[in-house]
Amino acid sequence: MHIRFFFVSVLGFSAVAAADLAPNELGKIPILTYHKISDEDTEYTRSRASFAKDLVELQRHGFYPVTLAELRSGRITTPKGKIPLLLTFDDSSESQFKYEADGSLTEGCGMEIMERFQKQNPDFPLRGVFFVLPKAQYPNNFFGQPDKIGAKLKYLTGKGFEIGSHTLWHANLKKYRNKIEEQLGLGTYEIQKYLKGYAVYAFALPYGIFPPKADEPRLRAGKFKGKSYKHDMIFDYSNAPSYSVYDAKFDTYRIKRLHGNEATLKKLFKRATKEKHIFFVSDGNPETVTVKKTDADRVRLKPGLKLVTY
Ligand SMILES: [Zn+2]
Repeated sequence: MHIRFFFVSVLGFSAVAAADLAPNELGKIPILTYHKISDEDTEYTRSRASFAKDLVELQRHGFYPVTLAELRSGRITTPKGKIPLLLTFDDSSESQFKYEADGSLTEGCGMEIMERFQKQNPDFPLRGVFFVLPKAQYPNNFFGQPDKIGAKLKYLTGKGFEIGSHTLWHANLKKYRNKIEEQLGLGTYEIQKYLKGYAVYAFALPYGIFPPKADEPRLRAGKFKGKSYKHDMIFDYSNAPSYSVYDAKFDTYRIKRLHGNEATLKKLFKRATKEKHIFFVSDGNPETVTVKKTDADRVRLKPGLKLVTY
């Protein structure tokens, strides 16, 4: 009797799990935004313990870190049945990435927590975008240790992380409309000082505040004293999951991001348990876009990709 009950449970569970894992590449993609990693959980700070716990829960709920480059090209390598997740880190504070005098990572900084988790979970890759502030005040001045900026940027890009612009010193571009080209031209220039030829194509608006509509083209490309910039992925802070990059509604100049705080994460995990159908679930093939037949007319294919419907 006992054994029989056990079998019924197992079969019931696997049937549900299989249904959950059907590819749905028009579903939503969560893009999480973290700021400071420190002692407590507040609006712009995630405690070290909570950040470590988030990684565990993200993996447990089927999320899988993706690169921005994959979202940009549409060639998403997320394994079949997993939900691509983009981690982003704003404001380049020392709490995200700190070195000790002996060259080791400081215990409890964001990078150290991620590396420790990854060592124990090799199937959860280290990926994410750092939106940096090269000329902010300490501790947000390019990760707080001026003599280690180059080493940190090379370490990050070498590991598979990516770097984006967040202006020079967190300028509210609605207020500083007259400084848009200066903030963005020099922002890119300061990153490329350390990473020669690095394509800074991603930009996150400080506070998520856009300048007036007429100024928006100035966020995408421009030049200040011979220093040019070109952004083709612009991120907001609207606290909503992003549309799929294959969805006709996806706007590359207003990509939605979620807040990396307790309330939003709780909601995200609840939805990943109870409403998994709303998320992008990968088909495991970077060359194909798999969607339900009824969704096919909503697809905007990227060049070179093939549509598969079911
Ligand atoms: Zn910021």
